[in-house]
Amino acid sequence: MSNSDVNVNPENQSEETPARSLHFIEQIITNDLETGRFNGRVHTRFPPEPNGYLHIGHAKSIILNSGMAQEFGGLFNLRFDDTNPSKEDVEYVESIKEDVKWLGADWGDRLFFASDYFEQMYEYAVELIKKGKAYVCDLTAEQIRETRGTPAIPATPSPWRDRSVEENLDLFKRMRDGEFPEGSKTLRAKIDLASPNFNLRDPVMYRIVAASHHRQGNKWHIYPMYDWAHGLEDSIEGITHSICTLEFEHHRPLYDWFLDQLGVYHPQQIEFARLNLTYTVMSKRKLLELVKNNYVEGWDDPRMPTICGLRRRGYTPEALRLFCQKIGVAKFNSTIDTTVLENSIREVLNRDAQRRMAVLDPIKLVIDNYPEDKRETLVAINNPENEADGTREVPFSKTLYIEREDFMEDAPKKYRRLSPGREVRLRYAYYVTCKSCVKDADGNVVEVHCDYDPESRGGQSPDGRKVLGTIHWVDANSAVDAQVRLYDRLFNVENPDDPNNLGDYKDYLNPESLKIVEGAKLEPALADAKLDERYQFERVGYFALDKTATPEKPVFNRVVSLRDSWAKIANK
Ligand code: ATP
Ligand code: MG
Repeated sequence: MSNSDVNVNPENQSEETPARSLHFIEQIITNDLETGRFNGRVHTRFPPEPNGYLHIGHAKSIILNSGMAQEFGGLFNLRFDDTNPSKEDVEYVESIKEDVKWLGADWGDRLFFASDYFEQMYEYAVELIKKGKAYVCDLTAEQIRETRGTPAIPATPSPWRDRSVEENLDLFKRMRDGEFPEGSKTLRAKIDLASPNFNLRDPVMYRIVAASHHRQGNKWHIYPMYDWAHGLEDSIEGITHSICTLEFEHHRPLYDWFLDQLGVYHPQQIEFARLNLTYTVMSKRKLLELVKNNYVEGWDDPRMPTICGLRRRGYTPEALRLFCQKIGVAKFNSTIDTTVLENSIREVLNRDAQRRMAVLDPIKLVIDNYPEDKRETLVAINNPENEADGTREVPFSKTLYIEREDFMEDAPKKYRRLSPGREVRLRYAYYVTCKSCVKDADGNVVEVHCDYDPESRGGQSPDGRKVLGTIHWVDANSAVDAQVRLYDRLFNVENPDDPNNLGDYKDYLNPESLKIVEGAKLEPALADAKLDERYQFERVGYFALDKTATPEKPVFNRVVSLRDSWAKIANK
């Protein structure tokens, strides 16, 4: 977000490329490049902790960080911030790599692990101890909390604050060697007990943890805290712009303090607003709970806001980049309407997705005056938005499937579909006029009967007469049966996390978030559908093959409906 009218490329303005304002991070980087700070380098990173799967909020950070490197000819690192052994796992490492790659962020050969720097970090800590800037403290975490003071009252000094350098060096080494039980000692920075910023009131740098690390095994008994570790990781890698979310604004003085005390290379931390979305939750803890307790089918359940969930649902990296472009980069927190995300994939798929015909709730349509054994193939346009996609053949015969809702026995005047006496166009086929219907014993319509006009082949009017509407269909002789999964939002309130809600966020799970349709009828071309392709089922929505599909049983996920059905409900 920026009100500036600085242009990205002022030298090269043309009518086709309208001026785009630089967001505040682009402005900072542009300025740094102009003043020669960091010697003209731009080097960013994405630093996930491997303690869960990535979600759309992380996608925003990945797209921003890798995007800045790309835009300014710089480099981008993927770095696992694996400093907390108890919650981390290689499963997460692998999924994160897959997701970052899928988004198109290129880390080249710069895949790093913070745990590989533990030795260096230890040396740095020893250096601070020697400078009298860090001490070993025997208070428990709870005692530290109790003595931290208030904004007006300084923290009570730890009884161990003035230990000698020799004693601190000895104790810190013995902490490392595993001589002391978990939680019994910490290493703390000696900064300012009266600082209005609590992060500077002698923050903990190391704690003793008795857990096995997924890469280091049992080598380490002490683990660095985020604030201590993060700036060092950035510094070691030569990061220029360390982009993080707003919660870390009050940690920046500490980030700076550590690097200044050590006198090492010093990147610039920059904070931006994290992404929040309506109708979803984004905390790793809650996503994990949804998975563990089987509220969803797994991390990649297509209703999840995870990157793997969105991928399985049929979202494309391009749609996520478009989404990030639409929402921009701001310095204040806000919540984005999920419709913006849905519109991004609609925009991409309207342009790119090939059209096919599929009937989700089929009833038979029989053309009484069409020869019993006749088969023909008609020509359908693959994508009206892209001529290069060409055409395909669609089989046609006497018996077809149409959507149940495209027939109504007693229809109001406005109804523009089939009803006795009314004529409609079958897409790419013929004009048909409804004659009658057949019902079962319970009065349900099981067959619609029509006559067709042989002169209207291809759906062209033979004499200039117009029809009420056009409906889609699938030939019954060659139809492919499929399962179709219709997804809706996972929660039925805008903010499931709202502290004013009466219930827990799980009380707001949308019971209709998944509707499984068996026996959908697809045109035969869809038997060749591929996993990474998406289709518009004409008049129905955008769909993608699910990973559980087999040649015998195609399974399709609805990526998104054609229009925003929630807006319709809201405007009723
Ligand atoms: P936690 O730290 O509680 O485990 P986290 O979501 O912050 O959860 P990290 O692995 O630390 O997880 O996140 C990696 C990066 O992604 C961080 O730089 C963080 O700032 C960024 N990030 C996380 N959530 C969002 C979000 N909702 N919007 C934008 N960036 C985010
Ligand atoms: Mg974090």
